[in-house]
Amino acid sequence: MSDSVATAPIAFIDLDAQRRAIGPRMEEAILRVVRSSRYILGPEVAELEAALSAFAGVPHTLSCANGTDALALALMAWQVRPGDAVLCPAFTFAATAEVVAWLGATPIFVDVCEADFNMDPASLEAGIDTARRMGLTPRVVITVDLFGQPADYDSLLPIARAHGLKLLVDAAQSFGATHRGIHVAAIGDMAATSFFPAKPLGCYGDGGAVFCHDPETLAVLQSLRVHGQDNQDKYENVRIGMNGRLDTIQAAVLLEKLRVFPAEIAARQEVARRYNAALADVAIVPEVPPHRLSVWAQYTLRIPGRDRAAVLASLKARGVPTAIYYPKPLHRQRAYARYPVAGNGAPVSERLAREVFSLPFHPYLDPATQDRIIAAVKSALA
Ligand SMILES: *Cc1c(COP(=O)(O)O)cnc(C)c1O
Repeated sequence: MSDSVATAPIAFIDLDAQRRAIGPRMEEAILRVVRSSRYILGPEVAELEAALSAFAGVPHTLSCANGTDALALALMAWQVRPGDAVLCPAFTFAATAEVVAWLGATPIFVDVCEADFNMDPASLEAGIDTARRMGLTPRVVITVDLFGQPADYDSLLPIARAHGLKLLVDAAQSFGATHRGIHVAAIGDMAATSFFPAKPLGCYGDGGAVFCHDPETLAVLQSLRVHGQDNQDKYENVRIGMNGRLDTIQAAVLLEKLRVFPAEIAARQEVARRYNAALADVAIVPEVPPHRLSVWAQYTLRIPGRDRAAVLASLKARGVPTAIYYPKPLHRQRAYARYPVAGNGAPVSERLAREVFSLPFHPYLDPATQDRIIAAVKSALA
């Protein structure tokens, strides 16, 4: 290990390394859009939508302004409204439940499994029961593939089907991941993702996409994306929509990033494999069952019974940045505390919020820097 590697600051996610790897193609693609003047719904937008559909094996993709709008567009297409219940995990980013509240529907917080941080099927059953007892109509379940790992769709999908619920996959962290060989964007009735820069496939600003299986739903999403306008007559508004378009420049950025994405997904597996092998004896490492492929949006350890603040301070002193996703489950947050929790609560979400932290992770993390991080974690937990 050279001295410069031993002391260089470590990035939590190194977007600059990716920019260097992609090279001048990216700048050229952006400049092409700048010179074309077609900033809104230029040809790169439809090109990207076709490329994303082909990549994920899903019939239709609608790009949009960000991942939050992507979730909202799906719920709006299904006309989710007051009196409806939408089941969401308690341990996720706020946007998953926020869009439910936007529409006046009721998010019901479902507990997660400690093995994969994702929705617990038994708690989902309890949550559906909670909704019915409250006189609400359970309409949709939003699963989140937290940290890039697909949820337990073998169990969750049949529960949704048995109760007549739509399944919306919040794939904001998991675009590119697969469950039994099927891309997460193709699982469920619709899926939504985010292209926020720090997500596994990110653009140079905000971006997102919705994935669906039939042309009728796509047409509704297209209308909703532009203020609910009629797809044939733009001066006739046929529903209440939003301004939710993806910028042409961001579509051009994503087309370039999609070229390197398969290699990046492979590189992510190798970083995770090395971390897991080195850290399994000092912390609870994230395990991915063989029928799932994670894109490792985050690499998250659990350290039950340890003083997490002290461990993170010790890592910081050794030059290793960390993050806590998430320090508070949603039902414990001020804006969401009024909403119901499935069954007897979400004790696993509460415990995980106290035990987890995430290490620097990106596909360009070289073995020497990984070793430096591993050594720091081992000595912080010694
Ligand atoms: C990032 C994220 C979102 C929201 O995406 P934005 O593009 O930031 O709006 C939604 N759900 C989850 C789980 C996320 O991680």
